[in-house]
Amino acid sequence: MYRLYPAPAQAERLRRWGHTCRAVWNLALEQRIYVLQQRGRCLRADEQCRYLTQARHDLDWIGELPSQTPQQILRRLDRAYDNFWNADHPARFPRYKKRSARLSIPLPGQAVRVRPINRKWAFVRIPKLGEVKFRLSRALGGDVQNATVTTDASGRWSISFAVRTRSPAPLANTLPPVGVDFGVKQAAYCSDEAQPRLMPPTLTAGERRRLEGLERRKARQVRHAHTHRGGRHSIRLQKTLREIARIKARQARRRLDFTHKLTTDLAKNHGLVGIEDLRVKSMTASAGRGSRKAGLNRGILDNTPGERRRQLAYKCPRYGSVLVAVVPAGTSQTCGRCGHRDPLSRTDRDSFRCVKCGHGDDADHNAATVTLHRALRMADDAVCRRALR
Ligand SMILES: [Zn+2]
Repeated sequence: MYRLYPAPAQAERLRRWGHTCRAVWNLALEQRIYVLQQRGRCLRADEQCRYLTQARHDLDWIGELPSQTPQQILRRLDRAYDNFWNADHPARFPRYKKRSARLSIPLPGQAVRVRPINRKWAFVRIPKLGEVKFRLSRALGGDVQNATVTTDASGRWSISFAVRTRSPAPLANTLPPVGVDFGVKQAAYCSDEAQPRLMPPTLTAGERRRLEGLERRKARQVRHAHTHRGGRHSIRLQKTLREIARIKARQARRRLDFTHKLTTDLAKNHGLVGIEDLRVKSMTASAGRGSRKAGLNRGILDNTPGERRRQLAYKCPRYGSVLVAVVPAGTSQTCGRCGHRDPLSRTDRDSFRCVKCGHGDDADHNAATVTLHRALRMADDAVCRRALR
C-alpha cells in the first residue's frame, strides 16, 4: 500500500468514481439477490457483464469509470460469494456498501503505468485521470497485475498493487518452530518467549486528550443540532466529525502497522507457526449495529486473530515457513509439560498450575506451548501421511 497524492481535481474525480463503484456493487448485489429469489438461480460475473454493457449505454455515470473497472467489481463480488460458500472461510454474506464505507476503485494492470521519478517518488498513470504522484515507500518487486485505489475516513488516498513476482520459491525455513496464543489484552504470547508481546499505545497522551475534547464537542454539537436544527449537521459539527475520523484513522494505521510487524516476525524467524483455529466470525458476530460492542469490534478488526491469520497465511509461504492452525478446544486447560487436561489446572484468569505434575506457568504462555505441541503433532502426521501414500 502506497500513499497517493492526487491533485484536488483528481481527488474529486476519484471520490466520484469511488461512489460509482459502490453503486455498481450494490446494484449487482441487488440483481443477484432478486434473481435468486425470483428464479432460484445464481448470477455470476460473466452473465452480469452483459447487463453492464447495456447499463454503460443508458447510465452515463457508469460510463465515466475506466473501462475495466465495473468488470473487476463484478469479479470481486464473485469472490465474495465464493468465500461465503466456502465453509473454511469466515466470510459472511456479501453486504451492501453504505455511503460512509471506505471507497475502493479497482483498476486493471494493463491500464495503469508506473513511472518512478526517483528512489522515493513515482507517478502512476490512471486512465481518464492522468498521472498521479505516489510515495514509493518500497519497491514494487514485480509486474503489476492490477491496482486498487482506496480512501479511508480521513480522506487520505492510497494505492495498492498486486504484482507477479519473478523471485524463485523460497527455501524451506529451518528456524525453530513456535506456538502463538493471540489475545485481546496482550497481542500475542509466543511459546519461546518469557514475556507477552503488547501492542504499544496507539495514541500519544496529547492525541488522546485531543480526541476526548473532540468527542465532548461532538456530543454538544449533536445535541444542539437536535434541539435547534431538526437534526441537521452544522458545518462546525462536520468539521469535528472529520477531525475525529482523522485521529481514528491514524490509530487504525498504527494498529495495522503493529499487526504487520508481528506477523512478519513470526513468519520470518520460525520454521513453523502454530496458531489456534479461531473463528473471528463467531467472535464478532454478537455485536448489534450501533451497540457498544460494535464500536469495540470496529476498533480491533485490524488487529484481530482473523487479520493476523490472514497475514500469516500469505507471509509464511513467502519466508518458507509452515502455518498450522490447531483445534483450540482445551488449550487453556491442558498442561504444556505433561499434556494432562483438567479444568481445575486453571487456577484463575492469568495462571496455570497442573493438578497432575505441578507444572506452573502463565495461562497464556501455557496455551501457546500446548498450541505448539499440537501443531508439531499435526505437521508430523501430515508428513507420515505423505510418506505412506
Ligand atoms: Zn502437567
